[in-house]
Amino acid sequence: MNRGRLIVFSAPSGCGKGTMLAEITKNEKFCCSVSATTRDPREGEIPNVSYYYITKEEFLKKVEENAFLEHAQYVDNFYGTYLSEVEPRLEKGINVILEIEVQGAMRVREARPDALLIFVLPPSIAELRRRLNKRGTEEQDVIEKRVAQAKEEIEYAPKYDYVIVNDALEDAVDDFFSIIRAEELKAAKSGELINEVKKDA
Ligand code: 5GP
Repeated sequence: MNRGRLIVFSAPSGCGKGTMLAEITKNEKFCCSVSATTRDPREGEIPNVSYYYITKEEFLKKVEENAFLEHAQYVDNFYGTYLSEVEPRLEKGINVILEIEVQGAMRVREARPDALLIFVLPPSIAELRRRLNKRGTEEQDVIEKRVAQAKEEIEYAPKYDYVIVNDALEDAVDDFFSIIRAEELKAAKSGELINEVKKDA
C-alpha cells in the first residue's frame, strides 16, 4: 500500500481555512492532525478534537521527549504536532493535513522534504478585513492586528509549493483536489506504474 501524503495547510486567520478543511476531510482519505497547545480552549472548541490542551510544563516535557514533528510559538502560546498523530495514519495510506502557521511549516519542510506545502490566500486584504469584520466577534484594533499578522504571514507564501486563493469555497476545494491529483500523477513517474505498463511488451 502507498504511504499517505503529509500536507501542510497554512492560511492567515479569516481565509476560510476551517471551512475548506471541513469539506476536504469529508473524503475519508484525508484527515487533520490534532495539535497540542498551551492556550485555553475557546468557546465551542472540544478538547482532544480541536486541540489537546496541555500546560506549558507538559509541553516542554513533550519537546524533551521528541514527541513533536514540529512545534512553534505563536503570539504567547506554544503549538505542536505530535508524531503519534501523523505517522500511524501515513502508514495506513491516509493523507494527513497539518493546519499550522508559517514557522512550523518551514520546520516541516526541513524535517520532511516530501511534505506538500499549501498556502491559502484571501482574494485581497480588503476582502480579508471585510470577512474579519463580518464575524462581528472582535474589536477594531484586534481586527487590525489580525490584518497586520496576515500581511506578515503572506510574505511566506512564495516558499510553499502551491497557493490557493479562497474566493469561492467550492473553487478553492476543487483547486486543492487538483493539486493532489497533479502530485499523484507526478509521483507515478518514479513509481511502479511505468514498469507495469511495459510489462507485456
Ligand atoms: P489558534 O490559536 O487561532 O487556534 O491558532 C493560531 C495559529 O497556530 C494558527 O495559524 C494555527 O494554524 C497554528 N497552529 C495550530 N496548531 C499548530 C501546530 O501544531 N504547530 C504550529 N506550528 N502551528 C499551529
